[in-house]
Amino acid sequence: MADILSGLESMGLGDLSSIDLFHDKTNKAENKKAPEKKEEKKVLEEKDLLYDRTVRCICCDNTFKEKTIRMGKARMVFQDMDLRPRYDDIDSLKYNITACPVCGYAALTKEFPILSYGQAKMIKEKISINFTGLKCESDTYSYDDAIARSKLALVNTVVKRGKVSERAYICLTLGWLTRGKAESISKDTPNRALFVKQLAEEENEYLKKAAEGFGEALQKESFPICGLDEYTFFYLIGALNYETGNYKDALRYVEKILINRALSDRIKDKARRIKEAIAQINASEL
Ligand SMILES: [Zn+2]
Repeated sequence: MADILSGLESMGLGDLSSIDLFHDKTNKAENKKAPEKKEEKKVLEEKDLLYDRTVRCICCDNTFKEKTIRMGKARMVFQDMDLRPRYDDIDSLKYNITACPVCGYAALTKEFPILSYGQAKMIKEKISINFTGLKCESDTYSYDDAIARSKLALVNTVVKRGKVSERAYICLTLGWLTRGKAESISKDTPNRALFVKQLAEEENEYLKKAAEGFGEALQKESFPICGLDEYTFFYLIGALNYETGNYKDALRYVEKILINRALSDRIKDKARRIKEAIAQINASEL
């Protein structure tokens, strides 16, 4: 766990780096570029797709500016096997956390305005009191900035006793950001292979945590979970288990999709690809 949340020290929150992500102690209830380039397409810089949005913090009532993607500017061109979205000219995942630079309250942007009085109190007592701020002087967020913001949001979900699915989704976002960071390392970087290997290991830890949390969310929450319907959610858990080498569970989830006659070919084809990839791995091990 210390590895997953390492880096919180720089925000003054080192004490929270060893918390249990999914189990509250006190309350049980609770290729960055597009694959193909259009010939006449103008190359946009990441900063051209952003603007500064003014946000009022629901936790401390201060206002702050936050970098936000302009509506309709970014175009999704592709999804990885685990549904990671890929956009032209920008990695949108770097901008999906809203974080207050004053009190340290952070959450997925759509969840940011949802905070009870009791949750705000817990955040003030456990986070704000030690929070030393977020550093970003550039026009855009680097992968390291985005990873730090996501870690801050993750620790907030635990402190505010947020839903397990919300915690797991931020773990998934951290895995995706780590993959994006590895893809962004230029080919001529010294020791590139070593960095990429380290980042792949970190990504694997995040994806494992996401799969574990989503599995727990299935027992505790009702659909839609993280905005996903039941079978898209099964597909996602199947893909995460496949990517982290847990083939038995991966098959269990993709079979749920393959045996359901009512589902579209689109999701069944995706599920079948995972099943076939596992069959190939098993065949090569025989
Ligand atoms: Zn605040």
